[in-house]
Amino acid sequence: MNVIDSQPYELLIGQRWTAGSQGHTFDTLNPATGQVLAQVHEASEADVDAAVRAAHEAYEKYWRKTTPAERGRLLRRLAALFERDREKIAWIETLNVGKPITHSLDSLKAMPSSLEYFAGIIPAVRGETIPVGDNDVLNFTLREPLGVCALITPWNYPMTLTVNKLGPALAAGNTVILKPSEVTPLSAMALARLFEEAGFPPGVVNVVNGQGATVGERLVTHSLVSRVSFTGGTVTGARIQASTASDVKRVTLELGGKSPLIVFADAPLDKAVAVAAGDIIKNSGQVCIACTRLLVQESVRDEFLGQLQQRLDTVRVGSPSDAATEMGPLVSAAQKKRVEKYIQLAGDEGATPAVHGNLLLDNATQPGFFVRPTLLLNSHNRMQSAQDEIFGPVQSVIGFRDEADALRIANDSRYGLAAVLFTHDGGRALRMARGLQSGSVAINTGVRTSFDAPFGGYKQSGIGKERGLEAIYENTQLKNVKYDMGV
Ligand code: NDP
Repeated sequence: MNVIDSQPYELLIGQRWTAGSQGHTFDTLNPATGQVLAQVHEASEADVDAAVRAAHEAYEKYWRKTTPAERGRLLRRLAALFERDREKIAWIETLNVGKPITHSLDSLKAMPSSLEYFAGIIPAVRGETIPVGDNDVLNFTLREPLGVCALITPWNYPMTLTVNKLGPALAAGNTVILKPSEVTPLSAMALARLFEEAGFPPGVVNVVNGQGATVGERLVTHSLVSRVSFTGGTVTGARIQASTASDVKRVTLELGGKSPLIVFADAPLDKAVAVAAGDIIKNSGQVCIACTRLLVQESVRDEFLGQLQQRLDTVRVGSPSDAATEMGPLVSAAQKKRVEKYIQLAGDEGATPAVHGNLLLDNATQPGFFVRPTLLLNSHNRMQSAQDEIFGPVQSVIGFRDEADALRIANDSRYGLAAVLFTHDGGRALRMARGLQSGSVAINTGVRTSFDAPFGGYKQSGIGKERGLEAIYENTQLKNVKYDMGV
């Protein structure tokens, strides 16, 4: 299937596909081969301004006035078109992100349902009547859209993150500008083409590509942008928070993580091993909720590690296009360098890096950005390698004595995105769930985000919630109205 354009990808501004005002392009790569996959036009400041103005005009002229039924109908049409093109989009993600094709297909399976879900909860965009002190006064609330939203996504799950931001933003009556990661812009371009076909009015969805520091910054600080929904690293998130503060913009930040997976001695070890291994294998560990600190009770540490290492030894690392591949490359040369630097640092700090998996490369994939699954044995939680988000197939293995020790270590992190624990003791599971400083907790299973449950971090893992009903609240503002019926 030929899924990549040979011509440079254009920007979508209002009703126009355009090369942009300066006509510059940048390359996007196939991380499995290190070769150029496609070229993409880069937006200038003037292009960003034009996209924001188009979104603002579309909001004022028609989108804010559409009925819930109309918005729902368009989102459902988009869901059907997505389903039609799902396989094609999955291949684009495999070629541009380096995800094994089996994983790309699997991760996009829920996207049509996500769009249908947000079409379905549009009726939640409503207010209520509130009895206030005076019987002559009718007090009610109106839930209103915010206006123009900037949606900024990272490179690890370009499509699922875009869909889960777009659905609620559009459902709530906002217009949007997408700014995909410069590293992986192609799947968003394929999605953008579906909006016109689905019948969305021009300007409701716009796409600008380019560097975060220029295009992204210009977008988030634009005075006509009312809300920024950002997923990415904590440093960038904090920068966006600072640069939007003077305009007091609404900001939702989904940031990094260093999630613990806690294995108590009474745990079903085979299940815990499967989840731990899955977190390092899936998308080469480039997953914000991946459990990258394995906290194992001392008495079962050897048994757990034996099983985990056995599993990791069998991992097939190779071409993402091969259906038998379990783990592809990292997304870029820079990410590979970063991960290798952290493995080196862990060794210098006194941990013992243990490398697993089988590297199955042919001539085409030889120069790709591959790193094999690596456990950092004998780690302790205060090591920098156990505190920083590495964002690769690397897990620190840390021992603990008892429940209190496990909780203390788990919470000893500047992040608080997700936590997983395995135990047969229900009381302990619930005590831990309460005590963990984390936006998501999973007990005896892995954390799998879904479009219909709220998701967001504690501490430096973010602000606000996306997905679920909360995403509608995040995308709207509430107005209180009083009417004196006695006049
Ligand atoms: P970055 O923070 O580098 O970039 C994320 C996005 O922000 C990209 O589109 C980037 O553009 C853009 N950007 C960069 N600087 C600015 C700026 N000043 N203003 C506006 N936009 C900007 O993250 P990565 O792409 O490297 O993604 C990896 C990170 O994302 C990890 O730390 C991971 O934890 C986090 N993440 C969090 C998730 C969550 O839900 N909590 C989910 C997935 C990932 P460009 O790439 O073009 O520079």
